[in-house]
Amino acid sequence: MNWLSDFVRPKIKKTTPKEIADDLWLKCPGCGELLFSKELKKTWYVCPKCGHHLRLYLDKRLKLLFDGNFTEIKLPETKEDPLKFKDTKKYTDRLKAYRKSTGNQDAIKVAKGTIGGIECVLAALDFSFMGGSMGMAVGEGIVRAAEEAIKHKIPLITVATSGGARMQEGILSLMQMARTTSAVNQVKENGLPFISILTDPTTGGVSASFAMLGDIHIAEKGCLIGFAGPRVIEQTIREKLPEGFQRAEYLREHGMVDIVVTRAEMKPTLVKILSLLTYKTKENKADTGKNEPVKAEADKKENIKKETGKHKK
Ligand SMILES: [Zn+2]
Repeated sequence: MNWLSDFVRPKIKKTTPKEIADDLWLKCPGCGELLFSKELKKTWYVCPKCGHHLRLYLDKRLKLLFDGNFTEIKLPETKEDPLKFKDTKKYTDRLKAYRKSTGNQDAIKVAKGTIGGIECVLAALDFSFMGGSMGMAVGEGIVRAAEEAIKHKIPLITVATSGGARMQEGILSLMQMARTTSAVNQVKENGLPFISILTDPTTGGVSASFAMLGDIHIAEKGCLIGFAGPRVIEQTIREKLPEGFQRAEYLREHGMVDIVVTRAEMKPTLVKILSLLTYKTKENKADTGKNEPVKAEADKKENIKKETGKHKK
């Protein structure tokens, strides 16, 4: 008998790496620092090290802006996959996967509630659902939000974060640019305020339609706003683009954006504008709209202190 064929494997248990939650740590795109996601939640996803504004999930955005409870408005169903589109995957399969991962039907949510005690309709896009692309469902959502604002004679606020039109719906997605434009114009014709909030990134068909038609444009610090991406423009015009091109601050200097704010300042700014535009003065002290974002700002400062203390090597 050969000792080679008789070889007994040593009894070592097969080890598998412990499962680590994907979102436990996040890398800051601004400074490259690894950030603990629990800490980030406290600062509304603003990097405590460099102040970079990470993308905010849709539900958190609604929570950040509304005073408390809000009523989600049910959106009409749209025809699914009208072009029977297929690339490496079927469009219907993609939709299924995104619905599962985000828990949303499409890249938009429309809700009604109070902001600083002022009732308004808010339509917010979701970048984590197919890059916040605007297809029929998103278009329908904006139209529905505008109708709701007109029906109750209250302001309309949109929060844009989108890569543009949804190519899987071809011309039907491009038509949403005209539909949403007409919808927000009707809000204005009814003498109601329409405030557009631009967040990272607001590009393509969304920036070329409703997002750029607000009475007032508020952009989040450092966010990308444009139509085509900077690389495409550079290749087309064969010129180097200036520093900070297509960023919120650059657009404010060139008159496309009215106000650039940090995430912490977003709600207080919005409340101020809403109360000016609706002629409502704040009598209710409890609703200054400052509570949560200001707390986040305070937490941020606190975190900077803590982190600089802890991580010095
Ligand atoms: Zn950072």
